[in-house]
This record gives sequence, C-alpha cells and structure tokens, in this order.
Amino acid sequence: LRMVSAAPLDNEPVSDEELRPHALEGFIGQPRLKAQLQLFLDAARKREVPPDHILLAGPPGLGKTTLAMIVANELGVPIRITSGPAIQHAGDLASILSSLDAGEVLFIDEIHRLPRAAEELLYIAMEDFRVDVMVGKGPGASSIPLTLPRFTVIGATTREGMLPSPLRARFGFTAHLDYYPHEELERLIERSATVLGVALGEGAAEQLSLRSRGTPRIANRLLRRVRDWAIVHDLDVVGQSDVKEALALYQIDSEGLDRLDVAVLNAIVRNFNGGPVGLNNLAAMVGEESETVETVCEPYLVREGFLVRTPKGRVATAKAWSHLGLEPNDDVSK
Ligand code: ADP
Repeated sequence: LRMVSAAPLDNEPVSDEELRPHALEGFIGQPRLKAQLQLFLDAARKREVPPDHILLAGPPGLGKTTLAMIVANELGVPIRITSGPAIQHAGDLASILSSLDAGEVLFIDEIHRLPRAAEELLYIAMEDFRVDVMVGKGPGASSIPLTLPRFTVIGATTREGMLPSPLRARFGFTAHLDYYPHEELERLIERSATVLGVALGEGAAEQLSLRSRGTPRIANRLLRRVRDWAIVHDLDVVGQSDVKEALALYQIDSEGLDRLDVAVLNAIVRNFNGGPVGLNNLAAMVGEESETVETVCEPYLVREGFLVRTPKGRVATAKAWSHLGLEPNDDVSK
C-alpha cells in the first residue's frame, strides 16, 4: 500500500528521482534512440571495453540525465555527475578526471558551458586518457602527465551548436532527443501515476499529455499538481475535468503553453507588432535570460508553429495571434 503522504508539496527534486526509470526498458518512447543505444551498449559489453563517449542533445526535461544514469546502470558501473557551470577552472576538472575509476561514467551536464581551458583538457583526456596535472605554483610549477584508466564521458547539452568542433568530434555517438508525441507522454504519465499512487480516470492521462509541451519533466510536474488537487478535493479518481480545472489554476493553457511561453508571444505581438524582434530585446521584455527564452521556450513554440525565426528576428505566426484572441495585424499598439 502506498501512502499519499503529508510530505511537503514542493519536494520536486526528490520526486524527480523517484520517477526516473533505471533501465533502458523502462525509458518511455524515443524508440530509434533506444535501439541505437542498446546496440552501442551491447557491443561495448561484448568487447569488454567501456563504450565510446556519448553526447546527448536536446531541450531541457527530455531525459538526458535519466539516459546517462541508465547507461551507467546497464553497464553496471558507477556514475560521477558534474556540470559545465560547476567547473570553474581546468584544475577542477583535472581533479575529477584523475580520481575516476576504470570504466566509470562521467556525466557532464550543460557541457557547452565548460570554460575554454577545461574544454581543452577534456578533449585530450577523452582522446588519449591522459591529463596533465600541474604541480607547484609560480615559476617553479611543472606539469606531470598522468595516465587515466579508460572511462566514458556522457555530455548533455541544450546547445549543441555551441560546442567547439574538436570537442564534438570526440563523441562516438550523438543522440538527439526530441519532444515526445502525446501517446508516449500518455504512457509516461500512466507509469508515473502508478508510482505516485494517483488513480487517473478515463481521458485524464490524455488531457495531461496534451498540456505537457512534449516534455516528460513537465508531464511529471503537472501530474503532481493534479495529485495535490485530488488530495485537497478528496478525490479517489481524477477525471478529465479535474485535470482541466487544476491546470487552469496553474495557468497552463489548452495548448500546453505556460506563463513564459504566453508572455513571449504577447511581447512579440503586443510590444513589437508581431515582430521581427531580436532575442535579447525579447528576453528583456519578458524579464528572462536570453538563453532560457532560446532553449526552453522557443524550440517548442517554433515546433508548434507559433513562432518563426528569421534572419531579422523572431516573428509571431497567425496561429500565435489567434491563440491570443487577436486578428493578425490588428493595430495592437492602440
Ligand atoms: P534532462 O536531463 O534532459 O533535463 P531528465 O533526465 O532530468 O531531463 O528528465 C526529467 C524527468 O523526466 C525525470 O524525472 C525523468 O524521470 C523523466 N523522464 C524523462 N524522460 C523520460 C522517459 N523517456 N521515460 C520516463 N521518464 C522520463
């Protein structure tokens, strides 16, 4: 029996772990990617060597960290987790690398944000399994080459284009994760609901899937908000209309757009008369970092046909105008 507990409602990081599948088999969707990865891992196991380095590219929340953990699990090796921004100096990376055990997986999230000097150190380590360790300080300092055991780097990035090509070339396998179709998200939501002990009625998982921006992390988050709703309203089973009401409260609209998505569209349409508008102006208008607008919002808005990128800047489509309840080229500035 699962307790629907009185734990704090904002325990997202903990729950992120509880909803993570541990084997490739439990990873939902992305069939081609899974088949490729399976072959890749099977070959490494047969050859009895650690697999080549792996690069995982795609928007946030699509399963990059999850896949990295699954790879380590499937290989039965430990995983060390770090990220580009966490490594401030090349020396930080050198000390991680020199402490790796044979076969270990080193997961580097946001690898495009590594400092330049660390990048260079990394691709030498990836290629030659060697790192130059600085000993001493000042004029007397010298570097001692240290041989590393074979290990596997798994890099994750939301900005593949920002990786310098020498680094990109060190990855033997690059996987592109794409937004999930509704049917796959529906399956994911059903699985998570079972783990969380939420009973979903007819059509509830589908409603949730339609509003999850194609993103597993969002699907799981919305499911938790719906669980809150069910707890507060003493529901045994969550129906379609409960999902709609709960999500309306959290300002998730019928297309799954959240507040930031809608703010971006509103800014283009109302402040820039539909565009074109440059990324930095747009980000300033909605009070967000350019990188967040570019990597979190835009890929989905572009994919769903609300926004197009042109050489002159971002332009709202007719679909965006009508989603906001406006006729394209209304004189919105009045
Ligand atoms: P990323 O590293 O790409 O930002 P994560 O791997 O942290 O994304 O995934 C976010 C959440 O979504 C995790 O809690 C994970 O359990 C879940 N998740 C992502 N992809 C899948 C999948 N294909 N199947 C099941 N759960 C998934």
